[in-house]
Amino acid sequence: MSYGETEAVRGIDLEVMPGEVFAFLGPNGAGKTTTVEILEGYRHRSGGEVSVLGEDPQRAGREWRERIGIVLQSGRLDPYLSVRESLGLYAGYFPAPRPIEEVIELVGLEGKADERARKLSGGQQRRLDVGMALIGDPDLLFLDEPTTGFDPSARRQFWDVIAGLRDLGKTVFLTTHYMEEAQRLADRVTIIAAGEIVARGTPEDLGDREHQAATIHYRAGGREVKLETTTLVKTLHELTGEALERGEDLEGLEVTRPTLEDVYLELTADSGAAE
Ligand code: ATP
Repeated sequence: MSYGETEAVRGIDLEVMPGEVFAFLGPNGAGKTTTVEILEGYRHRSGGEVSVLGEDPQRAGREWRERIGIVLQSGRLDPYLSVRESLGLYAGYFPAPRPIEEVIELVGLEGKADERARKLSGGQQRRLDVGMALIGDPDLLFLDEPTTGFDPSARRQFWDVIAGLRDLGKTVFLTTHYMEEAQRLADRVTIIAAGEIVARGTPEDLGDREHQAATIHYRAGGREVKLETTTLVKTLHELTGEALERGEDLEGLEVTRPTLEDVYLELTADSGAAE
C-alpha cells in the first residue's frame, strides 16, 4: 500500500485462523491501521492479494460486511442514545441480530443499559462500541487498539470481554500497543515495523524466548548477584544446594526471562519512529 510516495506497508503476508485471537503489534506508523483498513474493505490497496472470509474485501458486498464487526479507534456513538437504544438502532440494520440484552451482558454493561452514551466512562463507551460491532453477530471482529487510554483495571475488565468473544467462537483481529494484552489474549502474534513483518509466533515462543538465557538474581552476604544461564534447573539446583549446605538464605531469589516486551523492543528498535 502506497500513499503517494510513501510505501506504508510492503510484502506483508499473514494468515488468521478461524476462531483465534490474532494480535497485530507495531510502533506508531508501522502500518497497522493501513493493513486493517484494507482487510475491512475501507481502503483500496495498491497491490497484492487479500482474502477475508473467502472474499476480496475490495469487491465484497453487503452479505460479507454483515459477517464482520469493526471497532475503530474513535467510536461512533450517538451521545444522546442510551446503551440499549444504541444497540437497538444498530440491530435494525442486520437480518439476524444477537438479542440486545445478551450483548449488553456480554460487554458487561448490565448496570448501564439505560444510561446515555455521553454519561459513560471512556472504558464503558469502548465496551458499547464492541457491543455495536457484535450486534449483527459477526464471525470476525476487528478491534483497533481497543484499550488505549484505559486504566489498568478497565483494561483487565475489557480483556474478559475479548476472552468472552473467543469463547463464542469469534475470530478476533486485534491491534494493540500493549504487550501484556497480546500476551494474555492472543493465540498468535505478528509484529510489524516500518511496513514490514519482523516476527510472528505464539506469545510464548515469539523471539524464541523459551530458549534464551534466564537471569537469576539474589542477595548473598549483602551483595547483589546476577547470573545468566541457559541451564536453569541445573544452575538453580547447584545454587540452592550450596546455600542449604552453608545454612544460608538466597535473599530475594528471583528468576526472569526476557518478556514479550523485551523481544518487541529489540525487534522494532531499528524501525525508529516511522513518521
Ligand atoms: P499507529 O500505531 O500510530 O496508529 P499504524 O501502525 O496504524 O500507526 P498507519 O496509520 O497504518 O500506522 O500508517 C503507516 C504509514 O502510512 C505512516 O507512515 C503514515 O504516515 C502513512 N499514512 C497513513 N495514512 C495515510 C494517508 N491517508 N495518507 C498518507 N500517508 C498515510
